[in-house]
Amino acid sequence: MAKTSRSKKSQIQKTLALIAHDGKKAEMVGFLKDNCAVLEKFKLIATSTTGMHVAQAGLKVKRMLSGPMGGDAQIASEVAIGQCHGVIFLRDPLGMHPHDPDISTLLRICDVHDVPLATNLASARLLIKGLAK
Ligand code: PGA
Repeated sequence: MAKTSRSKKSQIQKTLALIAHDGKKAEMVGFLKDNCAVLEKFKLIATSTTGMHVAQAGLKVKRMLSGPMGGDAQIASEVAIGQCHGVIFLRDPLGMHPHDPDISTLLRICDVHDVPLATNLASARLLIKGLAK
């Protein structure tokens, strides 16, 4: 019985959100190249410009609005309704962002719903390893 429910669980394709601020886009591109095989296992969603890089890496992705136009808020909404199971958000800690309230919302909603959130490359690598299992 337990075996059946475990195997059913593993068949559900998880959704992973990818976001990178402009100062972190190059790191995201490197991450995509290095982890293509694992990332293919997920349904990918991304903010618009980040999503363009994801598509250029040869991965299928649903592109939301750009972050400053509400893309982070859209992804927060997916997390809130249980449609997004992990978030990789390479934030630029040295930059100013007009959409700071949306960024805070996304981080808060991940915490509210206990959804794994990685904000740097080291944790992003661990996150995809854990979530792909
Ligand atoms: P972008 O948005 O992927 O469209 O650049 C990211 C952000 O700035 O939050």
